Amino acid sequence: MKILIVLCAFLALGSAKRLFHNDQVLRVHPTEGQRELLEKLPETFPAIDFWTGPRDKGPVDIHVPRAFVGPVKVFLNRHRINNEIFIQDLQKNIDQERSPRPEQMNLATFDYNVYHTLDEINQWIDDIVAAYSIATKKLVGSSFEGRDFHAIKLSKGFNKPAFVINCGLHAREWVNPATCLYTVKYLVEASNGASILDEMDVYVTPISNPDGYVYTWTNDRMWRKTRSDNNLICMGVDPNRNWDANWSGPGASSSSCNDAYYGPSVMSEVEVQSQADFVASIPNVQAYIDVHAYSQYWMFPYAYTYSVTADDTLLREIGLASVAAIKSVHGMTYQSGPISEVIYQASGSTADYFYDTLGIKCSFAAELRDTGRYGFTLPERFIQPTAEETFAGLEVIASYVSSGQCAN
Ligand code: ZN
Repeated sequence: MKILIVLCAFLALGSAKRLFHNDQVLRVHPTEGQRELLEKLPETFPAIDFWTGPRDKGPVDIHVPRAFVGPVKVFLNRHRINNEIFIQDLQKNIDQERSPRPEQMNLATFDYNVYHTLDEINQWIDDIVAAYSIATKKLVGSSFEGRDFHAIKLSKGFNKPAFVINCGLHAREWVNPATCLYTVKYLVEASNGASILDEMDVYVTPISNPDGYVYTWTNDRMWRKTRSDNNLICMGVDPNRNWDANWSGPGASSSSCNDAYYGPSVMSEVEVQSQADFVASIPNVQAYIDVHAYSQYWMFPYAYTYSVTADDTLLREIGLASVAAIKSVHGMTYQSGPISEVIYQASGSTADYFYDTLGIKCSFAAELRDTGRYGFTLPERFIQPTAEETFAGLEVIASYVSSGQCAN
């Protein structure tokens, strides 16, 4: 009987899971004039999925389901839009992304170099809090589907300024939570007076969109949004277009089926409102970073406008110092600058909200590895180097908090 139930559950899960056999990711190199054509591509092929936006600076990566690979290539070639196959078979990438690992883990055997399920990450949070007296678990909120999600507060109890690090807002970007886990590991294991924690409290939220994250494990590896049901054609809202920062403006979509859908109303997503309330409840936050992937950017406000912030000189200085520190670790090149300058105008995003509304001067948004070779399916062997270089960038931001330059 038990076997039958397990088998049925497995079959039900199997049938629900989206597969990507022979789906391709095309890297497209449009001229400026061709970007408008690309933007309209979903009107003919609604099933395509932009991994980088058609209006973003640089090449455009498009995930094309198997059935449409031929027609999309015909379209691109007919309009003489330069393109190449970047990922030949997306399912193969997904299958090779993870390696086998033991089922049971405790903190001593926890493997930071593999991707973890939400349950494993929640257990790890409890284990960290139990093992380190400087760590406490803080409830950030409860998701649309009722999952509690937490931050780890790391503090030596000095009532210092705070640095908030957020991961996992976009569900499919698995290297982000993996990097946040490593960040906590580095901070709790750091000994002697050189520790960041002597100067500030650090709050790390590994998963800020738990419903979406679970969905990428059970149903659709390429899911990006929340899982809210708004009685529209498609489910979910882009939690990085939903914030009260020029909400519904340029660089966000009004279509529920678009991955950049800004939502039925401003701050409609409980995950977004919870994070806003949580960060607002922390005294003296001087630095914030929302960690994403991929493209290798280290950015700051504004996203919603091409105008620069009042702190542009300072933020550019921190950005350049961060990417230099990142490069010194493994030689990887990250680009820094205001989001609108580095990528494209995007309304309703985290970094702008925390800068404008909460007045967090050192507000950042990062895009980790890679530059598209694997995109969202970054193999696990890259977790550690990504985390190491990211920590170097975070240390730079922390050094500006320590020196008082992020204070208001
Ligand atoms: Zn993202």
